[in-house]
Amino acid sequence: MRKPLVIDCHGHYTTAPKTLENWRNAQVANLNTPELGPRAPDLKISDDELRESIETNQLRLMKERGSDLTIFSPRASFMAHHIGDRETSATWAAICNELCYRVSQLFPDHFIGAAMLPQSPGVDPKTCIPELERCVQEYGMVGINLNPDPSGGHWTSPPLSDRHWYPIYEKMVEYDIPAMIHVSTSCNPCFHTTGAHYLNADTTAFMQCLTSDLFKDFPSLKFLIPHGGGAVPYHWGRFRGLAQEMKKPLLQEHLLNNIYFDTCVYHQPGIDLLTKVIPTKNVLFASETIGAVRGIDPETGHYYDDTKRYIQAAALSDEDRFQIFEGNARRVFPRLDAALKQKGI
Ligand SMILES: [Zn+2]
Repeated sequence: MRKPLVIDCHGHYTTAPKTLENWRNAQVANLNTPELGPRAPDLKISDDELRESIETNQLRLMKERGSDLTIFSPRASFMAHHIGDRETSATWAAICNELCYRVSQLFPDHFIGAAMLPQSPGVDPKTCIPELERCVQEYGMVGINLNPDPSGGHWTSPPLSDRHWYPIYEKMVEYDIPAMIHVSTSCNPCFHTTGAHYLNADTTAFMQCLTSDLFKDFPSLKFLIPHGGGAVPYHWGRFRGLAQEMKKPLLQEHLLNNIYFDTCVYHQPGIDLLTKVIPTKNVLFASETIGAVRGIDPETGHYYDDTKRYIQAAALSDEDRFQIFEGNARRVFPRLDAALKQKGI
């Protein structure tokens, strides 16, 4: 069997030049006086600045760790859909998506884009469609990040199974792109952003799908639940039992043709459990580098987010490992597969 291409399906542009953050701060400072705030063209970041921000960070770590290609989206905690209104989010999403696109153009062998959406609390998700179309058609992006809670920790939107979200799903099915279900910054002090809100949302999204018949309406819809699926694999028995009581089909057929989990679990026992409980076909390699947990684990001497090590050490066959590193990503992201095939890969 040939060596797999190592595809990291979860990377964000967390290292963008500071100018981006300054632009955003000026936008936020002028929410009530947008005429005084910055305009999109005021943001100037050169190719050299982009190159440096990637070469010294994500690309350096990818090379050190042996990861080939990252599906690259705007910084999740910066999406902050709760800030401002639809216009605020539209301008911000367009800027952030364009930067990820430019990175994918500068490093076409190592990065391919996934889009953030210009969501805003209380606003019809169909307003996100033009940006989604632009990102897929003009930027060649292969997926989207869908925020199930644009309110930032207050959960004011209907569940993902509600028709509220259907315009997005219709477009996803049309384009054959998956969505990573990914919240952003928590503005609810009860929930730490990356330690609680993210994992809560992963678990919540799974349960919203479980209690519904969403995938009967959209048999080819695909969701990628990040951070190892939150609490889902660990509590698989609870979810199976609840589904049984609700007279739902077995989870294998009810959800596992549509829901996938990444490997952003930052220790070996977590990955061992994930790969034991969840079928291999539903697990995609990811590290979320450079992301929430940046330190070195004193117990192992390695970075917590060097998740490739855990996959390599897990009790998996070579075939399983091939699927987790490459095969599953190509199946879940058909546009990525097509882009690779076009390059003869
Ligand atoms: Zn993320």
